Amino acid sequence: MPSLSPFSLPGRFWRGNLHTHSNLSDGALEPPQVIEAYKNAGYDFMMLSDHFIGHYNWPVADTRAMRSNNFTTIIGSELHAPETSVGELWHIVAAGLPLDFPPAGKNETGAELARRAHAAGAFIGIAHPAWSQLTMADGCAIDCAHAVEIYNHGCAIENDRGDGWYLLDQLLNEGRRLTAFATDDAHFKTPDYFGGWVHVKAESLGPEVLLEALKKGHYYSSQGPQIHDISVSGSEISIRCSPVDNITVLCGNSRSQVRNAKAITDAAFDLKKLETGWLLTRQSPWFRVVCIDHAGKKAWSNPIWKDEL
Ligand SMILES: [Zn+2]
Ligand SMILES: [Zn+2]
Repeated sequence: MPSLSPFSLPGRFWRGNLHTHSNLSDGALEPPQVIEAYKNAGYDFMMLSDHFIGHYNWPVADTRAMRSNNFTTIIGSELHAPETSVGELWHIVAAGLPLDFPPAGKNETGAELARRAHAAGAFIGIAHPAWSQLTMADGCAIDCAHAVEIYNHGCAIENDRGDGWYLLDQLLNEGRRLTAFATDDAHFKTPDYFGGWVHVKAESLGPEVLLEALKKGHYYSSQGPQIHDISVSGSEISIRCSPVDNITVLCGNSRSQVRNAKAITDAAFDLKKLETGWLLTRQSPWFRVVCIDHAGKKAWSNPIWKDEL
């Protein structure tokens, strides 16, 4: 049965975090201390995403000196500009910015700032939708986004608003082909670190290679479990993963397929079962996979579009 991207691609998975703060903005630790903490926790790469606002003198952390043969950094920031529908600043993760990325203009909107970062080569992620109480209109406004932050560990710790799937699932139903990334958004003032990350499939550990892979969606997200393979043949889907107690396939309507058992490492389902149900008049053009371990930790595949199979 043929494996799907990114599992079918050459290279290996590199573990990284794209959203965390240092004392260049409101984090507790110096940049090298933050990077060292991630390196020691087994990460392969890391991005400091300090708050890109005038109050902190528009930081784009230069972490190049902390790169080595087995660890790299991506240069970026968390961008802010007015104004979401609840009347707050936008929070937008921009991974892959030039160090001299110009400050936000006086009248620049979040959507405009995101477009400028996108044009400068960045991977654009809509940050913590639930914490920010983003609406569908907000989600649609960031029209150049690559991804939605579907888990933010800092927000989960702060006020139980770590989940961003509600927004991404609805944007997918509108036909937006966005991907899904998990992060920490750590500030190291609370236990807000090492809780959510991405596994990026690439042939080498270089910032540009990782960025290209992120933009193409060659990754999955996790809080602990690992997804080893997802393959599809006809209407059959097969999933292999580290030991988990629940493997679920869900889609853009209420239909799903699930296998619950202790420490399972694979499951197979008939995708046609996602297409039948009471008064189901429209089929979902996409589905996705979630693996949940005994501790409730999850791994999430990116959305899989049927017309790309
Ligand atoms: Zn934020
Ligand atoms: Zn943040």
